[in-house]
Amino acid sequence: MQIVRGREELAQALGELRNSGTIALVPTMGALHRGHMELVAEAHRRADHVVASIFVNPKQFGQGEDFGRYPRQEELDYRMLKAAQVALTWVPQVTDMYPDGFATTVSVAGVSDRWEGEARPGHFDGVATVVAKLLVSLLPDLAVFGQKDFQQLAVIRRLVADLSLPVAVVGVPTVREKDGLALSSRNAYLSPDERARAVALPQALQLAREAILGGEPVADTLQRGRDKLAGVGFGQIDYFALVECETLEPITEPRGAMRLIAAAQIGTTRLIDNLAV
Ligand code: AMP
Repeated sequence: MQIVRGREELAQALGELRNSGTIALVPTMGALHRGHMELVAEAHRRADHVVASIFVNPKQFGQGEDFGRYPRQEELDYRMLKAAQVALTWVPQVTDMYPDGFATTVSVAGVSDRWEGEARPGHFDGVATVVAKLLVSLLPDLAVFGQKDFQQLAVIRRLVADLSLPVAVVGVPTVREKDGLALSSRNAYLSPDERARAVALPQALQLAREAILGGEPVADTLQRGRDKLAGVGFGQIDYFALVECETLEPITEPRGAMRLIAAAQIGTTRLIDNLAV
């Protein structure tokens, strides 16, 4: 596996890969786990070569968020990517992504507005800007993202469609621990006690899914979900909602393809999860 940082090296390595087949990109912020590796596996199923990127993107963290303490484990990440037959990992520097004078923001209206967008102002502008840069810099045939970040995936699909980027976007189902907790680099922040209680998040989503499919009123079901989280000691619950899959607009009467989405804080750790209904 080639690990490249600079643009010249990148152009050369990419040119060689492009000459011998299709390329799938897996963008990450590092601190890799089995969820990321499932994206790599899906990338292998769909393309000849897999390229990964590791970039902890400062623009998608708000003031007072965890940019400074976000887990970093580059050597281990490289070993995992190499073992998974990744051909090339790009590790751009912040000054390369955002050189002095950088003044452009990519902003996806509508689908970015609610939920994560409301709880984390500016977050999706940061995501859309960096993903646009990664896609334009690497021009892969396809790019693979996790459904774990469901709204992010919807934002990226909108971005790619609106800018007519010649890249197929692939979403991969969430990889979970045995007890149902979605894998996340941020799970490393949880104390053993918080980890034990965190499982209430996927459980609450499952219960809500069954209730909605069983015909129970949506508003009551969502309130029960919030109550369950509060009951096990989650602090701030940013949202626990039923939404339309593409637009992320809230749904009050079940119809079509729906998603339950939730974000809540346990201790100092903010967890997000979602479930298809
Ligand atoms: P991150 O490094 O957290 O920015 O995530 C990089 C990519 O991995 C994103 O597309 C995430 O949605 C995806 N991802 C993170 N956790 C999981 C998971 N548990 N299952 C599947 N994909 C995931």
